[in-house]
Amino acid sequence: MGKKINIAIDGFSSCGKSTLAKQLAHKLKYIYIDSGAMYRAVTLYGMEQGIVTDEDLDKEALIEELNNINISFNYNRTTGKSDTYLNGKNVESEIRTLRIARMVSPVSAIKEVRTKLVKAQQAFGKEKGVVMDGRDIGTTVFPDAKLKIFMTASTEVRAYRRFRELIARGDKITLEEVKENISRRDEIDTTREESPLIKADDALILDNSILTMEEQFDIVLDWAEERQKN
Ligand code: C5P
Repeated sequence: MGKKINIAIDGFSSCGKSTLAKQLAHKLKYIYIDSGAMYRAVTLYGMEQGIVTDEDLDKEALIEELNNINISFNYNRTTGKSDTYLNGKNVESEIRTLRIARMVSPVSAIKEVRTKLVKAQQAFGKEKGVVMDGRDIGTTVFPDAKLKIFMTASTEVRAYRRFRELIARGDKITLEEVKENISRRDEIDTTREESPLIKADDALILDNSILTMEEQFDIVLDWAEERQKN
């Protein structure tokens, strides 16, 4: 085993970033941080306070509230995964709904929201040995990460994968609705002013449209082991 490094995984919505990041963290005995969950938790907080609605958000009011938002992760022994907590409450399931997904991109386009969350994310990575997935990890959060991966897959493949996930947990949605949400989020995430989703110059591209999970994992594990050596 080589030196501990930070691994940044960025890419479009529903590319399987978190699945890959979790597998990788497990194998390398690293900590996995889901940065998207943090933006989702801020969105949920805004909705609970009535600051964020299904169509709109009060930007100034949300900025005012930022100091009252505390997000943490705790390991769940039953699922073997880490759950997201908002002010001490487990919100892991609540933040995964399409209702949150619809408003999370406008919320995460707010500069002050990003400043707060990026700072917290950087603190997680201080000791190295972190795998973090998101949209701006390789460009903004860990610009010095030893391994940066930029994931992509066709919109059809991504929508279908996410659709199956949501249906499996009992959500009543159509494939068309999921596809629309994914395209909309891609659009906002890539065109926003504050650290938009772009590939870092030194990121390795992983297009998983036609890769199985095992094939993808083998490729990435090779990359990680190589980078740990140097
Ligand atoms: O990764 P996930 O789909 O859970 O992210 C939800 C949303 O949070 C993204 O669509 C994006 O708007 C925002 N996000 C972000 N920067 C990150 C991670 C997520 O802007 N590092």
